[in-house]
Amino acid sequence: MSSQAGRIRDADIALVRERSPIDEVVSQRVTLKNAGGGNMKGLCPFHDERSPSFNVSPARGFFHCFGCGVGGDVISFVMRTELLSFAESVQWLADRAGIALTYEESGPAPNRKPGQRQRLIAAHTAAAVFYRQQLLTPGARIARDFLAQRGFDQQAAEQFSCGFASPEWDALSKHLLHQGFSEEELITGGLAKHGGRSGNLIDRFRRRLMWPIRDLTGDIIGFGARRLFDDDDGPKYLNTPETPIYKKSQVLYGVDAAKREIASSHRAVIVEGYTDVMACHLAGIGSAVATCGTAFGADHVGVLRRLLMDQDEFRGEVIFTFDGDAAGQKAAMRAFEDDQKFVAQTFIAISPDDMDPCELRLAHGDTAVRDLVARREPLINFVLRTTIARYDLGTVEGQAAALRATAPLVAKIKDRSLRPGYARRLAGYLGIEVEQTNAAISAELRAPGNNAPAQRAAPDATIDPAVRELEREALRLAVQYPVLAGPHFDAIDETAYLDPVHIAIRRAITAAGGADSATEGPQWIDKVSSACEDLIASSTVSQLAVESARSAADPDQPYVAVVLARLQELAVTRRIAGVKSRLQRMNPVEHTSEYNTLFGELIALEQQKRGLREQAIGGL
Ligand SMILES: [Zn+2]
Repeated sequence: MSSQAGRIRDADIALVRERSPIDEVVSQRVTLKNAGGGNMKGLCPFHDERSPSFNVSPARGFFHCFGCGVGGDVISFVMRTELLSFAESVQWLADRAGIALTYEESGPAPNRKPGQRQRLIAAHTAAAVFYRQQLLTPGARIARDFLAQRGFDQQAAEQFSCGFASPEWDALSKHLLHQGFSEEELITGGLAKHGGRSGNLIDRFRRRLMWPIRDLTGDIIGFGARRLFDDDDGPKYLNTPETPIYKKSQVLYGVDAAKREIASSHRAVIVEGYTDVMACHLAGIGSAVATCGTAFGADHVGVLRRLLMDQDEFRGEVIFTFDGDAAGQKAAMRAFEDDQKFVAQTFIAISPDDMDPCELRLAHGDTAVRDLVARREPLINFVLRTTIARYDLGTVEGQAAALRATAPLVAKIKDRSLRPGYARRLAGYLGIEVEQTNAAISAELRAPGNNAPAQRAAPDATIDPAVRELEREALRLAVQYPVLAGPHFDAIDETAYLDPVHIAIRRAITAAGGADSATEGPQWIDKVSSACEDLIASSTVSQLAVESARSAADPDQPYVAVVLARLQELAVTRRIAGVKSRLQRMNPVEHTSEYNTLFGELIALEQQKRGLREQAIGGL
């Protein structure tokens, strides 16, 4: 969930859910027909299909598509269709239902008062209009020249709402106060501050070229300001400070204009500045965004990940453009070290002439910008190449040192399916046999302290389908009927499940507080789904939520008891087999006491199995 989620009061989120019937919200986008059993069906908005496999359960407040596996509650439907965060989606639904949200008083975030966000956005919107008008005045000639020199005509300036902050101390403040905004609002929003000895209100931005910065929904939440005058001793770029609506770690300039393109092309291009975003968009790279006065970090990844999600899996490319200098290489190395989740999808595009996209467009036109992006190279490739470049491969010592430096990098690639390919490529770069690189990489993986994660168990093809279905039924009961499944379900731990996806869901139910703690409904299902560590598991949860239980009627207590007893019986049977095989391999004379303990365990397990058998049959 988004880090902002906690700031909206839980009671408000519950109210928003209650006043946002899922069938009503979905119907705004999908034509739904009755599908029997109170459920509804339609054509999935998330994948191409001719026959409807998109199911909505109004009673449970959940949707699930059996075609592409996407599912969730009303809030996640809005997140997906409107490309918004959790908090933004709650706000979206609240606006629709006419609910005024209140935000938590506590927490590390600055207190947000009801309606404050709307007021601050209104102030920023008015400020953007003011700056835009100022750009047309005679005094703003230097700003217009700046744009023209970089290849941006008046139309481009209008498209990106460029503006000018005049040299006056308080031009904007006066204008906004006159429009009814308070001093406090201007200061909280980062538009003005108290200045000098007099403590008068003065504008934060003066004598600068201005770009409004918008959030995903298109609301203006801050500004970026470029120095224009030689005698301006401030930084080259000045941005809005942290405010209740502006969080620089999450802000991406251009994201509102780029989000559709990013989502449909599964590609995001990260550039360095405001003019680069403009140049890219004008050159036809509509997926370009830039961070604002901060390095690209984990929160930015979060924003993009949401846009790049496709059918519940992260699919797509994140392309960083660098101007080829040492700083760019360092940044790429850091990206590689930091976020391995992204590594297979991260690309680097380096301009051959050390130019940024804005300079490139100016010198060689739109095609050159598109070529820059087309010439991208996988991050791993780039990192290996630039690391190797530091060594003299003409000598055996140099080759060995380069191998020592690069083998750990390949070993670090979490997606092990990529490793063989990069081992071969590395051998080619170094001019050595692939056996040598393989050996070095394997040694690296075995090295103590290497935290390469254990490979996740692949779905075991040898699991009996009947067993898998039984596990699924138990989980289905816990998801749909937690009150009924309750403590009995919770008493059976994850070792009773064989399918890795089922194990993940069982774990998520524990993480969500257990079935016994739950009350039926979308909030419980959402809690379990959010607690899932992987997307296949959370997608399966939403599937379980809309599937019918296997019992003919609504499940009752005896039915639940039978399902859970059978599940337990199978687990006990497996443990019995394990104990028997250990006993067979053990010498009862040499290990007498251990043998006796194990034998006692076997007797107890056999007894437990008989009891479970009786429960399972008795329940029928
Ligand atoms: Zn679908």
